[in-house]
Amino acid sequence: MAGNLYDALLGGLDREDRLLLTDETVGTMSYRAFADQCARLAGALLEAGLQPGDRVAVQAEKSVAALALYLATVRAGGIYLPLNIAYTPAEIEYFLTDAEPSIFVCDPSRFEALQPIAKAAGAKILTLDLAGKGTLTDAAAIATPITETSARGGADIAAILYTSGTTGRSKGAMLSHDNLLSNAVSLVESWRFTDKDVLIHALPIFHTHGLFVATNVVLASRASMIFQAKFDPNKIMEAMPKATVLMGVPTFYTRLLQHSGLDRDSTAHMRLFVSGSAPLLAETHEEWQARTGHAILERYGMTETNMNTSNPYDGRRVAGTVGFPLPGVQVRVTDAETGASLGTEEIGMIEVRGPNVFSGYWRMPEKTAAEFRKDGFFITGDLGKIDKDGYVHIVGRGKDLIITGGYNVYPKEVEMEIDAMPGVIESAVFGVKHPDFGEGIIAAIVLKSEAQLTEQEVIKALDGRLAGYKRPKKVAFMTELPRNTMGKVQKNILRNQFSGTFE
Ligand code: ATP
Ligand code: MG
Repeated sequence: MAGNLYDALLGGLDREDRLLLTDETVGTMSYRAFADQCARLAGALLEAGLQPGDRVAVQAEKSVAALALYLATVRAGGIYLPLNIAYTPAEIEYFLTDAEPSIFVCDPSRFEALQPIAKAAGAKILTLDLAGKGTLTDAAAIATPITETSARGGADIAAILYTSGTTGRSKGAMLSHDNLLSNAVSLVESWRFTDKDVLIHALPIFHTHGLFVATNVVLASRASMIFQAKFDPNKIMEAMPKATVLMGVPTFYTRLLQHSGLDRDSTAHMRLFVSGSAPLLAETHEEWQARTGHAILERYGMTETNMNTSNPYDGRRVAGTVGFPLPGVQVRVTDAETGASLGTEEIGMIEVRGPNVFSGYWRMPEKTAAEFRKDGFFITGDLGKIDKDGYVHIVGRGKDLIITGGYNVYPKEVEMEIDAMPGVIESAVFGVKHPDFGEGIIAAIVLKSEAQLTEQEVIKALDGRLAGYKRPKKVAFMTELPRNTMGKVQKNILRNQFSGTFE
């Protein structure tokens, strides 16, 4: 593989009237119309001074124009850098100062607040709103559309995506044209995408899941999508009779399960439900299968590596696992300290190597060096094991591992026991400072509305199920767990909130 990702995904399609998407604002749009929009936007970027390798930072609402801006940037030889729409001006300041984009695109409503920040960072500022309007669109309307894709090597950087910031400050992962293309090709094959597929696209497009997994797979297979500005269970239910695939985070599935219309009939046209970005509860998987007859396919990836593993398309999709390494991707489990490979069923650090793995963190050479082994494996920070059938299991993040009284406790093991109790919806187990044990275990639990479980009952129910040192020293009942926009439970927030519990 080599060359510009744009050509692989959209090259030649500027003459195709094939349907690319439907969207509430733009109606239906063909591949040709989308490619035309990309060519105009790319022309506008070049006229705004974009040079090959320049970053184009974008904090825009989800729209077809924002999606076209990603491909326009890549086509023009720039590096696309999407930012979470929820970031505040102070957060944007960090990203712009760190990434030094030459162009920054934001929602018109934020122009006043962000203009001085963009200026200080040396970026030209343009606007784009939810309806696809703004000064960028105005510039594109009069720009000369580009006709030649900028020549890039496969190893050149196509995008910098900041990680979700679940465990600390977000890091900019540099992803090459080849990283993105190789993963799209693998996923098309693994998930059997064809030009007959219709994907329901309801994920945000500032994150790897919605931007790369969903979009690139559709483009690479010449499929189409029903593009939805945000996740709305009613809209997903409406789309399913016309669609074939849904990609979602686990909360999509738990929310859809609350919809009375979800059953075999309403999902009969669908062929595949994919989940990722956070762990899917085994209970959700089972409930979904019972209601719809479909086994959700869970996969595992991260910003730095694109997708690494997936449950099989044919064959058993095992709840609570993330399946097998994708074609071309190597996965191993090691002793986190020594890097020595561990055997089947042994829990350790998950490491990956392959054409999907990023080339490093933007302007963080030491951190990059520290996260790679000498033989090129990337240390994911996730703990897990490979079982005797080859399925990869994730037991949690290294940073969430609890060390209490000198013993390691994997939160997932405790969470699974608690989640299985009648009346419990979900739980998050974490450690905070404890004067005697180093860390003391706390379980935050969300109960079903009719359930009446007490702290003592929970701790007692774990007696005989878990060794004493694994049992929580405190149980806190909450109405919901703190989650970020990707549906990830934010244990750092819980740790802060309960930091003084044992002191
Ligand atoms: P940061 O690196 O900034 O702390 P983050 O790791 O949450 O944030 P992302 O790159 O969006 O940022 O998320 C990748 C992580 O999401 C993985 O390392 C893993 O912990 C988790 N993850 C993704 N898919 C799954 C899955 N199917 N099951 C369990 N965890 C998953
Ligand atoms: Mg991470």
